[in-house]
Amino acid sequence: MAFLEISHLQKSFGTNKVVQDFNLTIKKGEFVSFLGPSGCGKTTVLRMVAGFEIPTSGIISIDGQDVVNLKPNQRNIGMVFQAYALFPNMTVAQNVAFGLRVSKKPKTEIDATVAEMLDLIRLGHLGDRYPYQLSGGQQQRVALARALATKPQVLLLDEPLSALDAKIRVSLRQEIRAIQQKLGITTIFVTHDQEEALSISDRIVVVSEGRAEQIGSPFDIYNRPASRFVASFVGTLNVLEGKVDDAEAGVVDLDGNRITLAQPLSGYKKGEMLALALRPEAVTIGRQNGHDTAVEGTINDVHFLGSVIRTRVSLGKNNISLDMFNDPSSPPPGRGEKVKIGFAAKDLLVLGE
Ligand code: ATP
Repeated sequence: MAFLEISHLQKSFGTNKVVQDFNLTIKKGEFVSFLGPSGCGKTTVLRMVAGFEIPTSGIISIDGQDVVNLKPNQRNIGMVFQAYALFPNMTVAQNVAFGLRVSKKPKTEIDATVAEMLDLIRLGHLGDRYPYQLSGGQQQRVALARALATKPQVLLLDEPLSALDAKIRVSLRQEIRAIQQKLGITTIFVTHDQEEALSISDRIVVVSEGRAEQIGSPFDIYNRPASRFVASFVGTLNVLEGKVDDAEAGVVDLDGNRITLAQPLSGYKKGEMLALALRPEAVTIGRQNGHDTAVEGTINDVHFLGSVIRTRVSLGKNNISLDMFNDPSSPPPGRGEKVKIGFAAKDLLVLGE
């Protein structure tokens, strides 16, 4: 059952069509991330859900109610922004109480909710501090508590972690996910960081040029990217250029290697170029166990990262990145070394444009 429904949503600023026919349904309690490059329109969609931006056309409904004509404060939505946006002249407790004061809740209820929220973000002992006396991560937890205090039916998070340093970012994203699951609150999280989106979402919407390019679980988005854009944006996948050699038999030419794919290339013609995706973890050096395809290449980059060694092998025009596990008994191959790499043809995915 759809709890939040976005249907044929469009937004133009002058002649600039920033959001184009954006469609999405979100179930109650789901955590959905909008993932896409800067300027693709993800914040604009979020701002339309919040009511800060009016759609050019389309429908946004929450729990069956069309909210497009409602003001932000009538939508029962909590929002956290990239910049902490706490009131600097209010204490932590006063910041968290703000929305409840505006809606004129009784003092006993406000006090109880503030205590509950500070407990939730593990800052019960810092209620009397001012924002400037907190770290960035603590300020963002207070912003989250403030957004949740009014018990909103939807939580919107607009790049809430991007101003924090890497270590805090990882711990706070886990905390956000844990709180979201505990409360069962329907959440949209905007990010341009694929690792962030993959690690905490129930589903990811990959946004490109104002459209939902692909919607799926992190597992699906990573393993079955629907287009070249998704494959290159969602991180570490190898995107390779091949040439169709025999469409019916599913044979492609990859830098002079004839490779038979797991399925025929219906709709393609001999000589046509096509893009293929290959996950780094599906490729090995030297070992051919369980692999039906082996090609020769030259190592052109080696990064020792500790437990894994990220290696790039050139086949010609194409480069394939792969991760080798560290083996203390044998040093990794060096640059310029010729190697044989293996993978299973079924792991080569044909990408649409
Ligand atoms: P970022 O990650 O950089 O925030 P985004 O995907 O969230 O990017 P948006 O902020 O939604 O992108 O912006 C999408 C496009 O809309 C951009 O080209 C931006 O310049 C334009 N835009 C956003 N708000 C306005 C506005 N109020 N007036 C005119 N153009 C705008």
